[in-house]
Amino acid sequence: MKLHVLGCYGGVTQYHRVTGFLLNEHILLDPGSAAESLPLEAQRRIDAAIISHSHLDHCASLAFLADNIFADAKTPLRIIATSETAAAIQSHLLNGTMWPDFTAIKRTGSSVAVIEHIRPGQPKRVGELVVTPFSVEHSVPTVGFVISEGQNSMLYSADTSDLGPIVQRASETDNLKLVLVEASFPNKLRELARKTGHLVPEQLEALVSLVGVPVRLFHMKPRYVEQIATDAAALGGDVALLEQGEVIEF
Ligand SMILES: [Zn+2]
Ligand SMILES: [Zn+2]
Repeated sequence: MKLHVLGCYGGVTQYHRVTGFLLNEHILLDPGSAAESLPLEAQRRIDAAIISHSHLDHCASLAFLADNIFADAKTPLRIIATSETAAAIQSHLLNGTMWPDFTAIKRTGSSVAVIEHIRPGQPKRVGELVVTPFSVEHSVPTVGFVISEGQNSMLYSADTSDLGPIVQRASETDNLKLVLVEASFPNKLRELARKTGHLVPEQLEALVSLVGVPVRLFHMKPRYVEQIATDAAALGGDVALLEQGEVIEF
């Protein structure tokens, strides 16, 4: 699997883009960032977007991506999300007011974009990948994912304040190669993190000691990146902050 980090922060500045990952050059995972990070040619290869929850920093760039690719797309863009997240996107983003409803616009007989629902615990094939959602605790309905290609798997936490489901999935997943877990705030802001549905590095200790594979942090709030890096270094193990533009293959 090839993971291209399009954005990995929990906020936007001229140096920081919000969450967005490109898998195997054609599947988006949480396109908070996508269109602003890729040349048009690369955007045209995208045929699916898997979305963990409805917050803008995990889906906003879907709007701009769909607009960029719909004239050339030979197949509909698959928007893959739980029914709650899909309903929020259709009501509040691609609703014909904030942005065109690309699921209602037809080109050569098929819609520009189609919604496909996923449910926690039920694996879904997306191209060469199998994506299995699991529920996590956050301020809106949210799922993390186990994403597998052949025998190799990656675990993605999405936004959450409770590490429990992540540790459980990590312990159940064979051939786990990589864990992406959010760490939005430094340790000293643990209470703020809890109230806003997020994690701090010191909460990741059990996960790091359990998995024995690279653990990469994302969703850092831009103003706290250095403190989060210092806190993460204290965890030991193969732990690092993701970097924008980084490509990881496993
Ligand atoms: Zn969120
Ligand atoms: Zn977020």
